[in-house]
Amino acid sequence: MNEFELIRTYFACQGLAREDVIVSIGDDAAVVAPPPGMQQVLTTDMLVAGSHFFADADPRSIGHKALAVNLSDIAAMGATPAWFTLDLSLPSADPEWLRAFASGLFELANQYRTQLVGGDTVRGPLAVAIQLCGVMPAGEALLRSGARPGDRIYVTGTLGDAALALSHRRGTLDLTEPERLQVMQRLDYPQPRVAAGEALRALASSCIDVSDGLYADLGHVLAASKVGAQLVSEKIPLSSVYRRYSDRIGGAELALSNGDDYELCFTLPPARASEMQRILPRCECDLTYIGDIEAQPGLRIVDASGGIYEPKVQGYDHFAGG
Ligand code: ADP
Ligand code: MG
Repeated sequence: MNEFELIRTYFACQGLAREDVIVSIGDDAAVVAPPPGMQQVLTTDMLVAGSHFFADADPRSIGHKALAVNLSDIAAMGATPAWFTLDLSLPSADPEWLRAFASGLFELANQYRTQLVGGDTVRGPLAVAIQLCGVMPAGEALLRSGARPGDRIYVTGTLGDAALALSHRRGTLDLTEPERLQVMQRLDYPQPRVAAGEALRALASSCIDVSDGLYADLGHVLAASKVGAQLVSEKIPLSSVYRRYSDRIGGAELALSNGDDYELCFTLPPARASEMQRILPRCECDLTYIGDIEAQPGLRIVDASGGIYEPKVQGYDHFAGG
């Protein structure tokens, strides 16, 4: 199969056709027509075999995750995803691999009404890069720099399941089969919080997606906003599987220090708390109040009794066999 057959077979005839796409795959570049008054939001993320996924990972999950991480960045800006391009570096044109990769990719693309409008295909080490473009009303982007002292800090969904899945894969934590399936789903098929990002854009003062762990990512918000924060460790939302193992793995530590959950962390002026209740049904996930922005720089984690939370573990190896 040559390059053009490959593109035609697996990428050109799949997915939906948006009305605002004027020229799609097949010309030198794509042409799209953003709605009047809207600004465009651009993001790109590259996944490389060996560092972001195992070369023998399920290609369906690679297709899903390559788009999901970009959708998560668009969600964190409060934008609505629209169009994307796909750069593929492939060691060979393996039809089975390509079919599964495309199925994972287009399933998620269709779910969020985003259209593949172009890309590039080369022979080389396995790597996937997607550039995603979203739209939103002018001036409404959710930035990292908008948090103010007194704002409340929230996260969507639950944190830490992707870290549990990685621990299980590395052999440092033994999960039952149903537990394993539940957390592997979170690692391999993350669900970007697009609906929550859109609902929050007129409301939140700042937002970031949690891809490197809450501790690090909230740190970026604090630095950009020139503020500090206090978090209450017991308030970090954890799944039922995580809570079952929490004592053995050092409480919320894994959930705080590991990423790959692709939840959103955002701040909200307290005066807007009642408005947040109103948009809650549109978010399609839980929103949990975990702490407050303070003027004093730095991130302080306390337990419910007000004591300074001391992380019980520093990394994966410490609870081996736990
Ligand atoms: P050019 O040489 O002009 O850059 P290409 O031959 O690389 O064009 O690509 C031909 C067409 O196929 C272009 O419209 C390009 O956007 C599209 N395309 C190439 N690779 C992919 C891909 N992996 N996914 C989607 N579209 C692709
Ligand atoms: Mg050309």
